Amino acid sequence: MTTTEPDCLFCKIAAGQVPAEIVRDGERVLAFRDINPQAPTHVLVIPREHHPDAASAAKAGSGLVDAIVSEAHAIAEDEGIAGTGYRLVFNTGSGAGQTVFHLHCHLLGGRGMEWPPG
Ligand code: IMP
Repeated sequence: MTTTEPDCLFCKIAAGQVPAEIVRDGERVLAFRDINPQAPTHVLVIPREHHPDAASAAKAGSGLVDAIVSEAHAIAEDEGIAGTGYRLVFNTGSGAGQTVFHLHCHLLGGRGMEWPPG
């Protein structure tokens, strides 16, 4: 059974209750463009079911994190950035900059990236 949280923004996007620019609409995983893009390609890949972060989804052992990473790579190929390279970010916890507590993977690419990140 898919779990959702009534007050979660990304659960609402997954349910079609909040509009988003959808890039991929899969059975378990959904992807949409970030509303405040930090790179020419900035897509968020999320599971339909609610997990607060990547660590809790990994603990649940459902293979969701693998599915998200595979989907992100497929989108990178579609966006033409797989060859030059891209960055995947799972902010985990408020100290790391997480602001939406529904697991999401940032797919960023289309420009040069620096290290360390801010
Ligand atoms: P976090 O800081 O890692 O939790 O990332 C949350 C991301 O969600 C930020 O990059 C926001 O710009 C993005 N975001 C917030 N609200 C929306 C929305 O309604 N649609 C698309 N992206 C959003």
